[in-house]
Parts: sequence; structure tokens; C-alpha cells
Amino acid sequence: MALLPVRPRKLPSVGPATQYLQNLSRRDFTVGAALVDGCWVSGEQKDTVVDPANGDEIAEVAHCSAADMNRAISAADRSFPAWRALLPSQRGAILRLWASLMLAHAEELAILVTSEQGKPLAEARQEIIYGAGFLDWFAAEGERAYGETIPSHKIGSLLQVRMQPIGIAAAVTPWNFPVAMITRKAGAALAAGCPIIVKPAPETPLSALALARLAEEAGIPRGVLQVLVGNPVELSTPLLRDARIRALSFTGSTEVGRLLLEGSADTIKKVSLELGGHAPFLVFDDVDLRKAVEGAMAAKFATSGQDCLAANRIYVQSGVYNAFVAAFAEAIGQLKVGHGLDPETDIGPMTKASVANKCRAHIDDAVKKGAKAFSIDQKGSLGSNFVSPTLLSDVTEEMVIAREETFGPVAAVLPFSSEEEVVVRANANEMGLAGYIYTDNLRRALRLSEQIECGMLGVNTASFTGPPIPFGGWKQSGLGREGSRYGLAEYMELKYICFGDLAG
Ligand code: NAD
Repeated sequence: MALLPVRPRKLPSVGPATQYLQNLSRRDFTVGAALVDGCWVSGEQKDTVVDPANGDEIAEVAHCSAADMNRAISAADRSFPAWRALLPSQRGAILRLWASLMLAHAEELAILVTSEQGKPLAEARQEIIYGAGFLDWFAAEGERAYGETIPSHKIGSLLQVRMQPIGIAAAVTPWNFPVAMITRKAGAALAAGCPIIVKPAPETPLSALALARLAEEAGIPRGVLQVLVGNPVELSTPLLRDARIRALSFTGSTEVGRLLLEGSADTIKKVSLELGGHAPFLVFDDVDLRKAVEGAMAAKFATSGQDCLAANRIYVQSGVYNAFVAAFAEAIGQLKVGHGLDPETDIGPMTKASVANKCRAHIDDAVKKGAKAFSIDQKGSLGSNFVSPTLLSDVTEEMVIAREETFGPVAAVLPFSSEEEVVVRANANEMGLAGYIYTDNLRRALRLSEQIECGMLGVNTASFTGPPIPFGGWKQSGLGREGSRYGLAEYMELKYICFGDLAG
């Protein structure tokens, strides 16, 4: 790879997205290069980034190789001693500046996110604020990695536990939250004193590179944060093999999570995995129907359904079943499908064709097996990555959609009779990321909050994520936590020290 005076490729078509990209590059954001060892580098080979709404090519980025990744690992290794030696408040100051630069450039970043990921611009703006929040939060939390003093079990000794940075971290990030999934990992790692290497999803590298550009401007030293785009297997292989990578954080599918966990076994890395979800959403007879429908809309259709927290199985008790289905269908009928940059849009394209195909397969399978489908064809002449928001009622456990995550704007509603029955059904799945309960009965809410098998539970709310909460799943939904003090601990080692013979 040659050192590059940053040159974005001449963009093929002119639309709002490409115009903004051109503006960004004029302002010295980088499109076309990767950040390795403090330099923006570009290889002969390039990857094309497309607008998922229409397939238009919007930019090219450098395609990094395994050799580039090895170089990045060595650069991170060189940067570690100085970065860990800074005071937590000094690292925090850089993280805070990075967050404020993100907010200062929020509109450009949001347009980049929408252009490559497809989500409605209003949601992209929210993601920038959400993502910057992790940097701010970890800037402060890094100063609170206290450790502890343990009352001694030995005469004349003092027992201490310290938290120390684990070493170089690697992050493999997804395309559904291309900004926030980077800052949630990088914020924690950097605050803990660890350099981090980010491999973003090939579908959404532009937001990652823009973030890296802002991090540089905030004063993150050479080698401490690096972003490399390319073939996922080629780039992750050196990360897995190299023992200097001590922590690996991944967000994405359970299948890939399993591969990365296996690949980390040889070098015994500390692995945290945020994988798929299949959230049950329970609506009881006693509930305020309007609030339950509002909650279901938010929990199902945010990020056009491409969200691991999405309500994938909406169980509704028999007494309110028909009324819920009617009100839910009416609300779904109001959604507008379109390009994410159109301010009217609620549901954008699926980022990947495979996700749109999976949605259609789930609908076909459910209808074939007796589900009723409600959908207004709002997608019209839009491209094949668009999926009209669809309500499937009378869904049963024999249908694929009741067993597998859909990751799109398809809502499956299943009737149930009793609390005991629905708890068994909600827990009968290997995923355990999130769950939702809508009930006005306090005793029931308390009982179920104990019984539902998941890492995060919303009781009468569909909105609960943010920097202070431990984000993560049970069972095959993942390992470890992100955000919160638990998220910081993923990048730290505990050291127990026994000071003996104090009596002298
Ligand atoms: P994926 O798991 O393939 O991609 C996620 C990340 O892993 C990307 O950076 C990708 O480049 C990388 N990756 C893919 N294969 C890899 C490999 N063999 N080695 C190393 N890295 C690899 O996800 P996907 O196929 O894009 O989406 C499929 C499904 O995954 C979705 O339908 C959804 O169910 C789930 N998903 C979940 C989340 C989440 O937030 N938990 C995010 C994205 C996707």
C-alpha cells in the first residue's frame, strides 16, 4: 500500500448522498483510504460502497490485506505503553473531544450512515447522538476503574485488586449501527487504556472511516485507533492468530460469532459477543392497548427491523388479541417506505439483499403454513432491497419466523392463553438477548421479570438502551456486556496483589 494524499474517487452520480460525500472529502474526511499506523493509506485494490436503496455506487474505499492488518497490530503494540501510561482523565479528555467533534459533524455523519446503511435520516441522526454518548460515558467511567481492597484472611497482610488494561483489542462491527457499534467498543477499550483495531462491515465502511478521521482530529495518538476495510476472513485471520490481540469484541450473526470464538481459542482471547436476538414481546389482557401497540411499533420497526433488539415474536393474550391485531395493522398501514434521505420515510431498504430475501422467505413460509398476512404494498417500484412492512397474525411455532430472527420489517403475532404457557413459549429458544412485557399487573411484572430468559428486559417500555446499561445476551445471544461498567471490564484484567509480612 502506498501512502496517500487523500483523494476520494470521482463519484459516479449526483444526488444528495454523493454531494455530501464530496463535501465531506473536501473537508478532509477520508474516503478511499484506511487508517493504519497513523497514516491514511490506499491500496491498488478498492472496494465499492453502494447505496442499498438503488445500488448506486457512492464511493470506493481501500481494500486492506492481511499484511496491512499485521502492520496495524504491530503499530497498536507500539502505541500501547504510552496510551496506558496516560492518566484516565487525559484519555477521557480525548474521548470527550472525539464525541464533541461527532456532534459538530452530526449532520454529515448521519447522511453518510443513511447513504450506505439505508436507515431513515432521523434515525441516523439519533445514532450519531447515541454513538457519541458512549465516548462521553466511558471518558468518565475510565476514571472510576477503582479495583478494591479486600479485608484480609491472613494476619499482617494487605489484599488489593487492581484493574489494568488487557492489551490490544480488536472490534469486528456490523452494518446495522455502523457508528454506535464502533464507539460502544472503542470508547470502552480506549478508556480502559487499550489500543483498538476496528474492522467494520464491508457494507458500511464510510461511517467508520469518518469516525477515524474525527478521532485523529481529537488527538488519538498514532496506532491507538486503526480502521481497516476489506475481506472479513482475510482481515480477521491475523487478528485471531496474533497473541498480542488480547480482547476481541464482535457484533453480528451467531454463526460468525461462533467462528470467531473458535478462532480465539488458540490464543485464549477475552471474547465478547453481541449476537442475534429473537425477542419475545408479551402483551397481557390487562394492558392499555394504545401503549402496547406504540411499544410494538417501536420495538419492531426501528432501524427498519434490522435490529437485534427487535420484537420478533409478539405474543398477545386472547382477550385483547383481535383488538391488538386490528390496531397494530392500522399503525403499520401508516408507515412510509422509501429512500432514507426522504424526510417522510419510516422504513428504508434492507442493507443487504440477503436480509430482504430472508424477510420474504419468512413471510412465504408463514403464509403457506396458515398465517394471515397484512401488508400495504408501499414499496411500489422501489428496488429489491425494500420490504413492505408486513403483519403476520395467527403465527404458530411451526413457522420459521417463530423460531428464527427475521431482521426486517415483518411482525409476527402469536395468540396465547395463560401466563404460565407464554413463559414456556417465550423461553423455548436458544436466543436470549432482549424481551418485552406489557402488563398493568405489578405482581405479574415482577414475576415475569425473574422468569424471562434474556439479558435485557423492557417492562411497559420498548426503549431501554443507552451508555449506562449492560447490553448483552443470555444463551446463544452472546458473551459479555457492552456499555456500563461491565463493558469497561471487558477490556481490563484483574490483578490480585497480596502485600505480606507487613509487621516487618
Ligand atoms: P455477519 O455476522 O456476517 O456480519 C457482521 C460482521 O462480521 C461484519 O463486519 C462482517 O464483515 C464480519 N464477518 C462476516 N463473516 C466473517 C468471518 N467469516 N470472519 C470474520 N468476520 C466476519 O452478519 P450478516 O450476514 O451481515 O447478517 C446476518 C444476520 O446477522 C442478520 O440477519 C442478523 O440476524 C444478524 N446480525 C445481527 C446484528 C446485531 O446487531 N446483533 C448485526 C448484524 C447482523
